[in-house]
Amino acid sequence: SLPLVAIIGRPNVGKSTVFNRLTGRYKGGAIVDDEPGITRDRSYGRGSWNGYNFRVVDTGGLLLDDLEGDPFRSLIRDQCVQAMSEADVILLVTDGQAGLHPQDVALAEYLRKALPRRPTPARSNETKPIPLYVCVNKCESPTKGITQAQEFWSLGFGEPHPVSGIQGTGVGDVLDKVVTHI
Ligand code: GDP
Ligand code: MG
Repeated sequence: SLPLVAIIGRPNVGKSTVFNRLTGRYKGGAIVDDEPGITRDRSYGRGSWNGYNFRVVDTGGLLLDDLEGDPFRSLIRDQCVQAMSEADVILLVTDGQAGLHPQDVALAEYLRKALPRRPTPARSNETKPIPLYVCVNKCESPTKGITQAQEFWSLGFGEPHPVSGIQGTGVGDVLDKVVTHI
């Protein structure tokens, strides 16, 4: 089956908008969910880039609103773990207008421990974590976006990529990297 790109992130950062962008479902201003931040079930779609075809899963159920207790219980954990276990590449989406949020940090900490490991192509007895790209969404201005993205280096997953799910800005740069893995 086609490689799977999983979209992970705290509620309201624009995961479903990015999903719609990647799967060609975006309809210029249409409401992507009835209530922002609430997508009850994982939804799957197909995308393609430069002749590479892939599937995309939107994990809207990550409700990290219980940082005082166990932030990863129930739906959160189920959605995240299930999508990750199937994924070949992860997109960790954040909100560049809101800036770095404690829930972004909590999620990154979790992902650091929980990212699935897969055999490396060259040496099948060795494994490495599947690739993860940080997408700093809501960066409509490319110049401002570069500045907005900087603080997300601290998540520890390398270069943060400013994108706009609504406008499509920067999404191609991320996809260029994603398809190197598929
Ligand atoms: P999700 O909860 O992570 O799936 O986020 P949604 O895709 O439902 O979007 C949450 C809110 O952010 C909605 O009001 C969107 O219109 C808004 N949003 C999503 N993507 C962008 C973007 O690229 N730029 C801006 N400015 N707003 C966005
Ligand atoms: Mg959503």
